Amino acid sequence: MINIVRSQPEPKCLEIEKSKKDGSYACDDVELRLKNDFHNKCYLCEEKGISTINIEHFKPHKGNKDLKFDWNNLFWSSGHCNNTKLAKKEFDLILNCTDPKHKILEMIRFEIKPFPFEEAKITARFDEPIIQNTVMLLQMIYNGSTNHKEIEGANIRQKLIEEIRDFGVLLSDYFDDTYLEYEKNEIKQRIRRKLSPQSAFTAFKICIVQENNTLLKEFSQFLPQ
Ligand SMILES: [Zn+2]
Repeated sequence: MINIVRSQPEPKCLEIEKSKKDGSYACDDVELRLKNDFHNKCYLCEEKGISTINIEHFKPHKGNKDLKFDWNNLFWSSGHCNNTKLAKKEFDLILNCTDPKHKILEMIRFEIKPFPFEEAKITARFDEPIIQNTVMLLQMIYNGSTNHKEIEGANIRQKLIEEIRDFGVLLSDYFDDTYLEYEKNEIKQRIRRKLSPQSAFTAFKICIVQENNTLLKEFSQFLPQ
């Protein structure tokens, strides 16, 4: 999970659909706008190009039309994460990645060792219920809660571990002095892409850079401010 900037103003059709008896919040360009704003990634697990897309109501609407058609309440999530979030009512209170006041990476630490069958380690940096709830949800998302979800979580972790391994190779290559200067510059641009919000599982890669002084010195310009 990383911070996302939601585009404004809200799609016009939402107000129109809200006034109808059976209006749909997935009107006109709502889905396209969400896909672009969330970089085609699930806002919770950060898997990119998900095949089971859910438009999630961050605050469950329970028939409340204001919440149902509120542009700021619509999130782009995977079926796996949306279902996991629905399992516990504590998850109605989690950090909002589109709220600039909720600086996700200052509140949560993300780690996974890039080896087969490793579990993701998500930890709270502060002892506050909203942060603890978010951490509990992310732990369940990556590491599974039921038998079925454990398999889904393992599939996400497999992609996550591949991404971290690729990132590690790029970092090693960057510091390999047999590469020529122009090659090093190319590698640096690829590292920049891997740290961008558009990339998959960015939170984990940012934490790697933040916690290593040499990497931080070299790549701090590519981290979100
Ligand atoms: Zn997800």
